[in-house]
Amino acid sequence: MELALRGVSAAPGVAFGHAVVLDRMSAVNASIVAAPERAAELERALKALDMVASELEHIASGLREAGRKAEADIVETGVLMAADPGLVARVEDLVMKSGRPAAEALREAADESAEELALLADSVLAERADDVRSLGRRAAARANGFRPGTVSGVLIATTLGPADVAELAMNAKGVALVGGGVTAHAAIVARSLGVPMVVGLGADVLDVIDGEEVVLDGDGGVLVRHPGAGRIAAARAEAERRQGARQHAIAHRLEPAQTKDGRRIRVLANAASVAEVIEALEQGAEGVGLLRTELLFLDAQAWPAFAEQASFLSLIFAPLTGRIATVRLLDFGGDKTPPFLRGAAGRGIELQLQAPDALKTQLAAIVDAGGNVELRILIPMVTSPQQVHAVREMLATVLAGRRSPQVGAMIETPEAAHHAGEIAKECDFLSLGTNDLTQLVLGLDREQSKSAPVANVKVLRLIEATMRAAHDARIAVDVCGEAASDAAAMPIIVGLGADELSVAAARVGEVRSWVRGLDYSACREISERRLLGQPADAAG
Ligand code: PEP
Ligand code: MG
Repeated sequence: MELALRGVSAAPGVAFGHAVVLDRMSAVNASIVAAPERAAELERALKALDMVASELEHIASGLREAGRKAEADIVETGVLMAADPGLVARVEDLVMKSGRPAAEALREAADESAEELALLADSVLAERADDVRSLGRRAAARANGFRPGTVSGVLIATTLGPADVAELAMNAKGVALVGGGVTAHAAIVARSLGVPMVVGLGADVLDVIDGEEVVLDGDGGVLVRHPGAGRIAAARAEAERRQGARQHAIAHRLEPAQTKDGRRIRVLANAASVAEVIEALEQGAEGVGLLRTELLFLDAQAWPAFAEQASFLSLIFAPLTGRIATVRLLDFGGDKTPPFLRGAAGRGIELQLQAPDALKTQLAAIVDAGGNVELRILIPMVTSPQQVHAVREMLATVLAGRRSPQVGAMIETPEAAHHAGEIAKECDFLSLGTNDLTQLVLGLDREQSKSAPVANVKVLRLIEATMRAAHDARIAVDVCGEAASDAAAMPIIVGLGADELSVAAARVGEVRSWVRGLDYSACREISERRLLGQPADAAG
């Protein structure tokens, strides 16, 4: 008998596969492990360290076989680190004396060892600090049941962060969560990678047995246990249809994104990885409209260094030569708070302006790596024109004679929307972040909210005011929130005057074809009606 568990659609698509139940309960719920359970918890932690050591050994021998001795030697030092008695003793203490859960103990012990290493005068050893941290993270993930690269079914978990999804979802067929919100960053990453996701399924979903066959319907927001033959066939057919739609998008990638009555809309991609950039270009994206730089540094122990940012950006920019590359400054805070910023108040540019050296480092890395792209810098969570001015001043100090990139502000706080006119005067473009804007205007919790009602009249009025301010200042306005790829909201946004839509990489082709099916004058009528709080008719 089929058993349907109902949740909320967070990323479209349908998947059929074996369930992979990730045990995150202990990490999420138990901050202190009870004394009688500590020995078993310690065993789990030490087993995770062993597991990582053998994984690294395996990787190293592969490298050696491929004749890459130097890299093999580096990876092999990780094997020695995993067995380091100092590290093991720390893990033992944290679990047995302090009752820390296995994953937390592994992370904390590795961080402590790394801090000691970083203080050593020997620079070679000091550089190993990051390796120890990464080893700790890897082991913590194993203790929680994560096996990256081997997860190929439908992932079921209590909750996942955006970095977890980025690491795991590449190979997964779908993601089903007990909690989570549709605009949480984990859901954004899933949509971007084209992985179906259902959130808010409740604790019942943890009754699913590891290995059981399930159908995950990311469109309907349902997970079906014991699916019948008909449902499985339908799921397979739907997966094939989507694959066909992707091929169609690729085949039409050279056709312009232009409405039937001739309005050109630039369709760009939101990305945080090279894989997404490549997928987006294949589907006809004209460039990147939002590079979420912070997603790469969610485990950071300090503001990211110049070298790591420049090397990440060079990889992203390589396929974008001559095209728009909009790099957003680190948008830390909220559900994107790395360990070193825990407890800090604020988000986005507010946080970065409190660490001017970090801002300067990031701007220098962007300018340095961005010589071959049409570079744009985007400032997150802006609340005032002064913040844009401060970034521009800092940018001027790192240019060293090079051409300045364009500078734009995210309009995603009510304050920014209210001051859009003044902010536009400081900017070369504006970008509407409808995810945060909607949640902030309507007082919703972004990490838990089951909907993102962009078409709410209060939100639409702010969007309209922003578009007007941008056009009065003769600059372009982009929409990079999820509304840009929402079938109901997108025609309204086009009607309000969006010049650019920046959407998840996996959605680029579909959004381009939607644009081709629209009538701009009909969109304008719809948006006018919606601004008056009236319902809309179809725009096609
Ligand atoms: C937004 O808020 O709409 C946005 C695009 O930024 P992010 O989702 O990364 O917060
Ligand atoms: Mg935002």
